[in-house]
Amino acid sequence: MATGLMKTVGAGELRASDVDSSVVLAGWIARRRDHGGVAFLDLRDSSGIAQVVVNPEDAPADEATINGLRLEYCIQVEGRVRLRPEGMENTELPTGAVEVVASKLTVLSTADPLPFSIDERADVDESKRLQYRYLDMRRTRMAENLRARSRVIQAMRSVMDSEGFLEVETPTLIASTPEGARDMLVPSRLRKGTFYALPQSPQLFKQLLMVGGVERYYQVARCYRDEDFRADRQVEFTQLDFEGSFWGQEDVLETLEKICTAVVSDIRGVELATPFERLTYDDAMDRFGTDKPDLRFDMEIVNLDEVFASTEFKAFAGVLADGGTVRGINGGALGLARSGLDGLVSRAQELGAKGLVWMVVEEDGTLRSPVAKFLSDGELAAIIDALDAGPGDTLLIVADRVRVVRTVLGELRLGIGRPEGNNELAFAFVVDFPVFEVDDDGSLAPAHHPFTAPASLDELVNSPATAVSKAYDLVLNGAELGSGSVRIHDPEMQAKVFEVMGISDEEAEARFGWFLEALRYGTPPHAGFAIGIDRLVSILRDEPNIREVMPFPKTQTGADPLTGSPGRVDAAQLAELGIDIRSEVREEWAEEESGDEDGVGA
Ligand code: ASP
Repeated sequence: MATGLMKTVGAGELRASDVDSSVVLAGWIARRRDHGGVAFLDLRDSSGIAQVVVNPEDAPADEATINGLRLEYCIQVEGRVRLRPEGMENTELPTGAVEVVASKLTVLSTADPLPFSIDERADVDESKRLQYRYLDMRRTRMAENLRARSRVIQAMRSVMDSEGFLEVETPTLIASTPEGARDMLVPSRLRKGTFYALPQSPQLFKQLLMVGGVERYYQVARCYRDEDFRADRQVEFTQLDFEGSFWGQEDVLETLEKICTAVVSDIRGVELATPFERLTYDDAMDRFGTDKPDLRFDMEIVNLDEVFASTEFKAFAGVLADGGTVRGINGGALGLARSGLDGLVSRAQELGAKGLVWMVVEEDGTLRSPVAKFLSDGELAAIIDALDAGPGDTLLIVADRVRVVRTVLGELRLGIGRPEGNNELAFAFVVDFPVFEVDDDGSLAPAHHPFTAPASLDELVNSPATAVSKAYDLVLNGAELGSGSVRIHDPEMQAKVFEVMGISDEEAEARFGWFLEALRYGTPPHAGFAIGIDRLVSILRDEPNIREVMPFPKTQTGADPLTGSPGRVDAAQLAELGIDIRSEVREEWAEEESGDEDGVGA
């Protein structure tokens, strides 16, 4: 670690080879034990932990100071490194062979009693951890996550740099970018009544950089989307955003492979095989029921329509006659008792299916199932064949509309599947996304931002519901790590796409006129991508949510328990901005305050 005048070495760096050297350490007291009048301190700094022996007989400090040393005091220790006495080594600690005998100890800062223990084993409520994030990050988990995050970003930067990308910053006070979420707005004081939007992504600026001849751009970009919170969502998050000119889809995917292999090699010490698997959107939906398949295990969804084409089993026949489908998965040797199987049926119902048919293959190869008696021998044999089933396997079958069957089997698959072999990180690309997602009521919602090139403009205009775009996603272990696309570089096509997306000429001109104009000045073909850094780091660190890898995240309700944001501002500030708070909101405040004895809400 970097040292300086206050310390000569990191506490975690001491080894047996340092024995007899004089060192100066500085850090925090992580533990104190007293034996026979001698204090043993675990001194922790960002590099690790070293044991310090404070013997009052050596007079490293006056007695009152030594007696007063408490946990998390920030101290400096000068001393000599020696081997720990035989039998006292700590093999769990990299520095466990040695200790430092203090010849001088200085308290740099005292610490009040802490709101929670820094000891890793103490279970602390997350809101407390966020309120005292600066203490939480003294704990190993957060400290290591922050280090991993830094290394991930560093590895990304180094790939981008060696591939000739220019790091360019784009503004964060901008006009709205249409990524499909609500904008976070910032009022302007100089032009009262007007607002900046914080970028949902640097999308339009990176495209302008391509018009500007930059050719290869990247940025570790902060993005803002005012969406409801979920485990893997925050209003504020970070992307590795990049774009290239004279580029098509394959150039982007190959760059992504370079970035991901470098990052994983650094963080996990694993060399990923390339090329990553590439699936079309339709393929992913058919085989895994989702556009972000978890490929750590197979358990593919199998279409059984043929098997039941002339079935007498009414439930299946009715669905097929209505244009639905019958599909199943082989869940493998689940070994579930009846109650477990019933649990799967309830889960399928929660997910929207009318029911779930389960079948267990017996030792003799016959199928045990509540519906077996309604199926012919030929059908039973064909099911076993189609699902490649053997004794002990549990088969799960759903008959419904395609969308429901995919969702239900896709989710059940995730619930019962387990990574196979040492296939811990399954990266894949999903390509050929549709332009629109079709809702149950048949309405169309754009699947990507409107600057994404359609595979064919004709197809988009004539059959929008099935039109394919040049958009692609990167997925890892069932999570979407990011998306990108080949962009539209022809202003006429852009105008047409706005029209199909339901953005009128007037609206397009008012919101994006400046961008449409830019496209008219010799725009190179270009394509790009954005990787969600928070999500990538959380998966690489096996963390359950992205807050664990963000230094100062918000809670699920968008609040920051540390600084109290979002907070009210005083009337003078609002007046300067020409903003008045509506009376119904003031009434809500008044109600809150009457129940808020401390008045901390103001
Ligand atoms: N701007 C897009 C996003 O933030 C990524 C891209 O198309 O490059 O998802």
